[in-house]
Amino acid sequence: MTAENTRPAARSRDRRYPSDARRAPAAGARPGAPTPPSGGEPEDALERAAAVLKPRMRGWLHAGVFPLALAGGIVLITLARSAAAVAAFSVYALSACLLFGTGALYHRGTWGPRGEAVLRRLDHANIFLIIAGTYTPLAVLLLPTGQQKVLLSLVWGGAAVGMAFRVLWINAPRWLYTVCYIALGWAAVFYLPDFAQAGGIAVVALVVAGGLLYTAGATVYGLKRPDPWPRWFGFHEVFHTLTIAAFASHYAAILLGAT
Ligand SMILES: [Zn+2]
Repeated sequence: MTAENTRPAARSRDRRYPSDARRAPAAGARPGAPTPPSGGEPEDALERAAAVLKPRMRGWLHAGVFPLALAGGIVLITLARSAAAVAAFSVYALSACLLFGTGALYHRGTWGPRGEAVLRRLDHANIFLIIAGTYTPLAVLLLPTGQQKVLLSLVWGGAAVGMAFRVLWINAPRWLYTVCYIALGWAAVFYLPDFAQAGGIAVVALVVAGGLLYTAGATVYGLKRPDPWPRWFGFHEVFHTLTIAAFASHYAAILLGAT
């Protein structure tokens, strides 16, 4: 149950045709008048209005993690013991840099409606990218070639469908795409015994802990609570914090598997 359900039905037109509302200035709008905040899911009108007063911490977490993710990716690549590992770590590092880099740009900057619409699509598509990007080194390090192919086809196929879905249907209901992230994230749960056999129990514990942290983050994002300090550190920042902790846990699992 989210706050959206309690909004007045009067918003439903705006809900269905947000891009029209965004493209054409409202009748009577003064040229040069400040652009209203937009570019989000229309059902998130409250959130959009709040975006004018973004919590002050919005985006700083991603901006801070970006150089760490880049450095961490380089460390992994230098540890790689095969060409396949170099490729897998590069894919992983690139997906992490895209996630945190785009996230920081999107959340810190003030973009026009067009820029915001593009960055929001990239930001959401990157979530599918980081899921497949994280599975890539785990599969390459911990699975025999046959299983690698199956798992990587599954997660990259799912990620491609998911990214197309987010880019083409940016106004999909929040619960729907949140469930898609969680489903793809846990898609490889059946491979955990294989991960344990090849990587040991610590690797699996870190993979599962990361999965649980991502799921907790997705739940906070979906429910929009807890929202501790809306002006400084709101529910979105709680979500970011949980995803960064999840990323760190998975990074540790991959590092452990690589050494
Ligand atoms: Zn965000």
